[in-house]
Amino acid sequence: MPKVLLLGGTGESRALAERLTGEPGFTLVSSLAGRVRDPLLPTGEVRIGGFGGSAGLAEWMHAHRIDVVVDATHPFADRITANAVLAARARKTPILMVRRPEWVRTDADRWIPVDDLPAAADTLPGIGNRAFLTVGRQGVDAFAHLTSMWFLIRAIDPPEVALPTAATVILERGPFTVEHEIALLREHRIDVLVTKNSGGTLTAAKLAAARALGVPVVMVSRKPPPAGVPVCGGVDGAVAWLRRFGG
Ligand code: NAP
Repeated sequence: MPKVLLLGGTGESRALAERLTGEPGFTLVSSLAGRVRDPLLPTGEVRIGGFGGSAGLAEWMHAHRIDVVVDATHPFADRITANAVLAARARKTPILMVRRPEWVRTDADRWIPVDDLPAAADTLPGIGNRAFLTVGRQGVDAFAHLTSMWFLIRAIDPPEVALPTAATVILERGPFTVEHEIALLREHRIDVLVTKNSGGTLTAAKLAAARALGVPVVMVSRKPPPAGVPVCGGVDGAVAWLRRFGG
C-alpha cells in the first residue's frame, strides 16, 4: 500500500488528507511546519516540525518508507517546496505539487504587481499612506523601515519580527466575508492593500472589498513552480494522480 507524505499547512492539504483517509489503498502522513501556535490539524496521522533541509527530508522519507510526496504547501512556501523536490529527486520518489489557481485581476481592480516583499515596500510610499498588510507575520519586517506610513497588520499569531513604528496588529484567521473586510478598510481608513497572490477563497474577500472601495492593491506575484514537477490545481487532480500508484 503506497505511503504518501503530504506536506501541508493549507486548506487544500487538509481537504486532501480528508479525501485520502476515506480512499482505500493509501496510507498517509501529513506534515506541518509548526509555525502556527494553534494549527488546524488535518485528519489522520500528522507530524509537526522541520526536517532539517532537503537532506533531512530525504532521510526522513527513507526512515518512514515514503513512496510518494504531495507538496500541498502554501504557494509562497518556496523553501519547503525546493527541499521536497530535491529530496524526491535524490530518492527517486514521485512528487506532485498542488497549487490553487492564482487570483486574477478584473477590469475594476487596480493592482500593482511586484516580485517580492522588498519590492512591495519600495512601491508603497508612492501609492498610499495607510496600508493594510496581509502578507503573513513573517514578512512584515520588510516594511519596518517605512516610517512615513501607518500600517494595519493582520496575522494569525503575533509577529515576532521588526514592525513598522506606526502599526496596529490584529490577530484573525480567515475565512473573512466581504462585509467584514469593507468594514475593516473603512474603520482604519486604508488607502492601499498589500497581499501575496495566494489564490483560493478563504482570504479573497479583501480583494472584493478593495475593489468596492477603489483601494489599490500591491500584489506580490508567485514564483513559477520548479521545472519538471507535475502540478495540479486541487484535491480531485491530486487524487487522480495518486491513484496511478495503486490506490
Ligand atoms: P518555507 O519558507 O518554504 O519553509 C521554511 C522551513 O520550514 C522549511 O525549510 C522547513 O524546515 C519548514 N517547513 C515548511 N513547511 C513545512 C511542512 N509542511 N512540514 C515540515 N516542515 C516544513 O515555509 P513558510 O513560508 O515558512 O511556511 C511554513 C508553513 O506554513 C508551510 O507549511 C505553508 O504551507 C504554511 N503557510 C505559509 C504561508 C506563506 O505565506 N508562506 C501562508 C499560509 C500557510 P526544514 O528545512 O527544517 O525542513
